[in-house]
Amino acid sequence: MTSIMIVDDEDAIRETTEEFLKFSGYSTISASNAEDTLEILKLFQPDIVLTDISMQGISGLEMTKIIKETYPVEVIVMTGYIAEHSYEEAINAGASDFIFKPFRFEELSLRIKRVIREMNLKRQHEELVKKLEVLAITDGLTGLYNQRYFYQQLSNEIERHSRYKADLSLLLMDIDHFKIFNDTWGHLEGDKVLMELGLMIKSCLRSMDAAYRYGGEEFTVILPETNLKSACIVGERIRQSFASKRFFPVEGKEVYATISIGAAQFTEGETIMSLIKRADMAMFKSKQEGRNKVSI
Ligand code: GH3
Ligand code: MG
Ligand code: MG
Repeated sequence: MTSIMIVDDEDAIRETTEEFLKFSGYSTISASNAEDTLEILKLFQPDIVLTDISMQGISGLEMTKIIKETYPVEVIVMTGYIAEHSYEEAINAGASDFIFKPFRFEELSLRIKRVIREMNLKRQHEELVKKLEVLAITDGLTGLYNQRYFYQQLSNEIERHSRYKADLSLLLMDIDHFKIFNDTWGHLEGDKVLMELGLMIKSCLRSMDAAYRYGGEEFTVILPETNLKSACIVGERIRQSFASKRFFPVEGKEVYATISIGAAQFTEGETIMSLIKRADMAMFKSKQEGRNKVSI
């Protein structure tokens, strides 16, 4: 139910308007000045504030500005015909609409409905943007973050490192002989392995660490405040858990997969690409030395 707060220092207007809005199916509260309204808003925010402009103390326009800076609340302002306040002033203060007193309730009702319609559109739009923001940084198959976000976050972490001088390490991992796995058991079974690895990496991390799907069957983990030795311990934990996981691509057939991991710790002054390159070289070393291994 849409909630509306009525603010007016004239008791008769406040009470009749509140009664009408209640009767129209809105939930209502009311206040007789801006100071009380701002106090109430700290505890409860209605969808819409319908306020008089000319009041003792803080004016309705000043209050509108404060509300719009602080809360996602729509404001409709009311003013008398002779008042010197203009539609322009009200809109500039952030009001969604403006109505002259005395008004017919039918007119108020229409204006409220229009504001609600716009409010709902705005909320839908905001939700959509939030969803898109998440989609833009998420890998669809594993639910981990994607490569785009990896670069963004790694460069943020490097910046943080140069400010606080905390350790920073990177793990890069690649599934061993994954082409053979796909060729033998099919791409869909391969996808299950990728999803499982995603879950497993996540379960091995602290809340400040983050895992990313870097490419097809390659994953990375950014480990803030972590030196190379600790990074290897994390890598080893992921390697072991994954190697002990069993997959059943066809009934009665039990198979497993392994990963090769490269670990590198950020060194002062190097570029993001140089850090990734070193982790990649370490991963390649694991491959060369027989796979299912963590190297530095
Ligand atoms: P290595 O041990 O040297 O890493 O061998 P590999 O076979 O894993 O290496 P290669 O890079 O030749 O093959 C990578 C394979 O990963 C080939 C590709 O089909 C598979 N792959 C990449 N992305 C996906 C995906 O999204 N799903 C599935 N099922 N397979 C994928
Ligand atoms: Mg690969
Ligand atoms: Mg591979």
